[in-house]
Amino acid sequence: MSDVMTFGFDNEEIKGGLFEKYKAKKNETHRTAIVYSDPKAMFVGHPTHFKDRYFFCKKGKCCEVLGPAKYRVGAVLIKYNTDRAGVPKKPFAWELFPWAFSEVTYLKLKSMNAEFPLATHDIKISCTNEEYQHLDIVPCNECLWISRDELKTQIQEQAKPIWDSLKKTLASDLTVEQIGELLGIGGGTVAGVDPSSKLDMDSVLNSL
Ligand SMILES: [Zn+2]
Repeated sequence: MSDVMTFGFDNEEIKGGLFEKYKAKKNETHRTAIVYSDPKAMFVGHPTHFKDRYFFCKKGKCCEVLGPAKYRVGAVLIKYNTDRAGVPKKPFAWELFPWAFSEVTYLKLKSMNAEFPLATHDIKISCTNEEYQHLDIVPCNECLWISRDELKTQIQEQAKPIWDSLKKTLASDLTVEQIGELLGIGGGTVAGVDPSSKLDMDSVLNSL
């Protein structure tokens, strides 16, 4: 029989998603694009906090302790098989990833989209800091995955299960009690210490 583990909220093995997340790599340029079915619904997002891990804001103690929540945004990313400079190899091949990123990256994409609509332009991603995923993003002239209808349909189909799993990729959906535990604060009268009721131990013991 295999060993059953006990753990708190520090289990990094439980990621909730079935798919490996996209990560930009230092000294590599990835040619990518956001895969969508509806250009008006390319992203999912939710206000989140970070404390050891990302978790969804529940508008309460989390904001009091950690400050205002920030959006974490997700999309399905296609990464073409390229050389290190980002030039596509033959035969044409790709991988799809769930991609979760910060408000900063979303705003970068948004300003780029104003001039190079990301529904019809690939983007090249490189990074200066792999750990914190500080990304350099440059638009390309064309978008490879939508260039042929048959290819586009195939990739959209392939993207569906990844899109469905995106919410889990963004952050953990903790209960209010679990957030309290993560932040090290008691869940009210049960776990908290009530300072108003100091027991007079002598009188308690005398009454035995
Ligand atoms: Zn919050």
